[in-house]
Parts: sequence; structure tokens; C-alpha cells
Amino acid sequence: MPVLYAPRLAGKARELSGYLTQGYRALGRILSVEPPGIVAYLVAGEDWKRAPRDNARPYPPGLPYFTRSVEPPALVLPEELSTVFTPRTAATLPLTVWHELAHAFLLGREVVRTPAWLAEFVPQAASAAVARRAGLPLEDHLSRIESEPGLTVRGFRGQAGAGDQMSFQNLLLLLGAAALEEFGEGFLQSIFHALWEEDEIVDGERAEELLEDALGQGGREWLVSRPEFQEDPP
Ligand SMILES: [Zn+2]
Repeated sequence: MPVLYAPRLAGKARELSGYLTQGYRALGRILSVEPPGIVAYLVAGEDWKRAPRDNARPYPPGLPYFTRSVEPPALVLPEELSTVFTPRTAATLPLTVWHELAHAFLLGREVVRTPAWLAEFVPQAASAAVARRAGLPLEDHLSRIESEPGLTVRGFRGQAGAGDQMSFQNLLLLLGAAALEEFGEGFLQSIFHALWEEDEIVDGERAEELLEDALGQGGREWLVSRPEFQEDPP
């Protein structure tokens, strides 16, 4: 996967290129699909406002994203990750890169709108699956996540401060890692394909059904038993 960067960022580009190659290969295998034709821009702080994006206004600095506003579509990666990303461990950067890469794989085909928890659960679980394949130990990272931040993934409504957004993403990472432990990585292929096949907007009830079916036998019981998935925070 090509990485474009300012000359002074050559070292960082090499590091990111390693994560991108790992993620690109692993996701292609996990999902059994032809990887999408995409590139990555590693953007220096001073160039952030000029990075390609979907909206007219620049995005907050330090937040990676995927955009189809250029051809080929691109992952836009900041020189430095925003301090919003927590916990800070050796896994933070690769997980963040693989999360965006998983969005890119999913958006390689048309997808309908889904509730936020499912739209973000899928890339979080996929990034944890890549970490497992890459032999990146996640225990330390996961153990630093606040598991009762006062919100649950289903109760979360998109518009929130950066702190709550991070708590939401971290709960989904815990849920994704737990699903991989319990069911193995096969459910990822099922959920990606299920989302590609949906042609109506997915509501909350349908989203649960899709994930339960993808998890397979015992999926429903497991999902409703998970603390992250309750209606209200503990
Ligand atoms: Zn995301």
C-alpha cells in the first residue's frame, strides 16, 4: 500500500508502512476479499489543513480518517496522534491505523447506514483481530481501559465530547476482543458480508440481529450478557 509523506517524515512513514502492510494482508485474509485500491497520506502538522477530506472544514488535528474525496481513496494519518487517544501503549498507534483500514475495507463496497455502535464495533473488532494475527499483545492495552465509564455502547449517541467518544471506542474494543476470544475471527467475515448485502437502513434491532447471526451459535446469549452492551451503564 503506497504511503505518501513529506521528506522529513521518512522514519514515521516506514513505521506506518509496516503497520499498513500487516493490516492490509491480515484483513484481506480474515475477510477473504480482494483488498481495496487505496493509498495513505502521512500528513505533517503544518499541512493538516490542506489534507484531502470529505468536508469543507479541516478536521481536528491528530485524528486519522478515511476519505473517498480523492482517487484512489485515502487514509489520512497525522504526524502525531491526538492526545485524545487513550490508553497510550505500544498498541495505540497500530490499532488506530488498523481501525481506519478496516473502515476502508468496509467502504470498498456500498454500505447502508447502521447504528453508531455497529458501525464502530466492526472496525474495532477487526483491529483487534489484526493485532492477534500480528502477535501484538493486547492484554496490557485492554487492562488500561476504564471498563465502566458511565456509558454503554448501545446507549451512546454520536454527538459527544472527545472523552466520551474515546470511552465509546474503548468499550467497543473490549467487546470486540472478547468476541474474538469467544467465537474466533470468523464472525468478521460474516458481518462484513452481511453489511454489504443489506440494502435498507439498519435500525438498532436489525443491527443486533446481524451481529448475533454473524457470531453464530450462542451469539445472542453472549451479546446480551456483555456489560458493554446493556441498555444502561452499571
Ligand atoms: Zn471509526
